[in-house]
Amino acid sequence: MTDFQCTKCSYRFAKDRRPLNCPYCGKTGTVEEVPEASDILSDIDSHEKRMQEIETMKREMKKGY
Ligand SMILES: [Zn+2]
Repeated sequence: MTDFQCTKCSYRFAKDRRPLNCPYCGKTGTVEEVPEASDILSDIDSHEKRMQEIETMKREMKKGY
């Protein structure tokens, strides 16, 4: 099951596949997939790793002087 949300009326629901029409307001093409919470968390994780890499690089540069 995937979570979907209508961009028109903000109605949120779970379905196996993305429907063409919003089941609440009936608009076509307004239904968008809602990202999983775990996806958002992994995005933050990779961002934190990148920040750590930058910090390490900065430290390495300081050593050079
Ligand atoms: Zn709707």
